[in-house]
Amino acid sequence: MRYYVLDRGDQLSVDLAEQFHKLAAQHHFTLDAESPEIVISIGGDGTMLHAFHTFINHISDIAFVGVHTGHLGFYSDWKADELPELIELMSRSVTSEHANPRIVKYPLLELEVQKKSGTTSYIALNEFTLKGVDGTLVAQIDINNQPFEMFRGDGICVSTPSGSTAYNKSLGGAMVHPSIEALQIAEIASINNRVFRTMGSPLLLPKHHYCDIFSRKDQRLLLTVDHNNIPIDDLISVRCQVSKQKISFARYRPYPFWNRVRSSFLG
Ligand code: NAD
Repeated sequence: MRYYVLDRGDQLSVDLAEQFHKLAAQHHFTLDAESPEIVISIGGDGTMLHAFHTFINHISDIAFVGVHTGHLGFYSDWKADELPELIELMSRSVTSEHANPRIVKYPLLELEVQKKSGTTSYIALNEFTLKGVDGTLVAQIDINNQPFEMFRGDGICVSTPSGSTAYNKSLGGAMVHPSIEALQIAEIASINNRVFRTMGSPLLLPKHHYCDIFSRKDQRLLLTVDHNNIPIDDLISVRCQVSKQKISFARYRPYPFWNRVRSSFLG
């Protein structure tokens, strides 16, 4: 098995990565930074986001596994003290065709950012946000080429189903099961009064629908794509839709989404 490990960089995560390499060598796994089959993220959700973006150009060939060393690991099935059990199950999956991991695929979000200086595409695992830097974001929102609303407020958050439990949740968005191929648009502190009006409720768009966000004033903006911050001062528009690509997670034991939600948020 070709594998790669990314750790968060804190002492516990570094030690666990070291332990993983030792156990992996005993089971004849091959460390491969170029084309791994399995990528193990050791740390927190931020580490998984980092792992995802590191291998973004190979995600159709990779399955991810998360080990968490902090308090909350939404993308992580495994605790720090369970590493030997994980390796044992991984090794069985190589030696027995009946013990393969279940591959669970989650939808992703793709966005095309059109600027006066050029166009760039991104893929998000959690979400992207668009926020005003100097003040209110002023943007026209179209859905499927039809004008929907003029937005004024702090910003807009567009999330994937698995990202719906992250920033989107703090904005009052719904938690969406990742078997539902959809994106969710949530407002960040919109201005609503007699003059300015937005829908106010989070919106769920199915696969094949798309949303365009047009900048409607000269404004310095901050685009975030998961943990990455991208300042933009010449935005024309952002088009977003459910991506054709998906992320794969290798499940060596079941951990249903709603159990994950309950244990992450209710304990
Ligand atoms: P960070 O260290 O600020 O982590 C933010 C928190 O979000 C962590 O507790 C992390 O465990 C949690 N988180 C990340 N993905 C999650 C998911 N899919 N489901 C549930 N919780 C999740 O930043 P980071 O580690 O670099 O992560 C970046 C993420 O932080 C962004 O993708 C965004 O979702 C989240 N974020 C949340 C808020 C908010 O809730 N107000 C604000 C900014 C960023």
